[in-house]
Amino acid sequence: MTRELVITIDGPAGAGKSTVSKLLAKRLGYIYVDTGAMYRAVAVLARDSEQANLQDESTLKDICLGLDLQFVNKDGTLHLLVNGRDLTTEIRRPEISSLASAISARPVVRERLSEIQRRMGAAGGVVLEGRDMGTVVFPDADVKFFLDANPEIRSKRRYLELEVKGEKTTPQEVYQQMVERDRNDSSRALAPLKPAADAIVVDSSNSEIEEVVQLMLGYIEKQRKARRTLLSSRES
Ligand code: C5P
Repeated sequence: MTRELVITIDGPAGAGKSTVSKLLAKRLGYIYVDTGAMYRAVAVLARDSEQANLQDESTLKDICLGLDLQFVNKDGTLHLLVNGRDLTTEIRRPEISSLASAISARPVVRERLSEIQRRMGAAGGVVLEGRDMGTVVFPDADVKFFLDANPEIRSKRRYLELEVKGEKTTPQEVYQQMVERDRNDSSRALAPLKPAADAIVVDSSNSEIEEVVQLMLGYIEKQRKARRTLLSSRES
């Protein structure tokens, strides 16, 4: 039997990665891994840490060494348990987005989280979304996507999401924070946000979610077919 695929979806904030990744995983019967949620979890623990100085490498190291992350399905929604605490709602706060981006540039955090992510995806049958899934964590992934959209559209989508959750913010504030976060994520030395050389770049600016999902399913099916053909030619 062929191993199921490792599918990666990278891209900037608000491009639609989470929605698309969840739908793909559901349709394919794959596991969905939200790697941004992991960076957000470390950010919450860092914020709550009594040693407030995050410039100090040992604070982040202690957090990362003791980290127990679990995605659990509760009544059809995915919850993130961090050291036994349900942080599903807390990690989505706007201030955590910025802090996650800051701590994600730190080697100790990237090393630890990449190791956990590799373990989660090792058996295949997985859709992983993030910033460096196809470039660094799974350079040999079977299908790599880079999902993008123009910044105005991305920030509008993010603003509407936050509004529904009752967060007090303005479209301008969301736009500025998002552009700044993208700049940090793209310019950091370690695992910067960029498409892998062999990634399929998809722009969701003017597309409905379902169109994007169908487009991606087409590429995935092509890859599955190619693998089946290769396998049967080896067997015969
Ligand atoms: O995807 P999300 O917006 O939840 O990610 C939060 C932050 O975590 C990003 O802005 C980025 O700095 C960091 N991140 C990362 N590498 C990943 C996933 C997220 O650096 N694979």
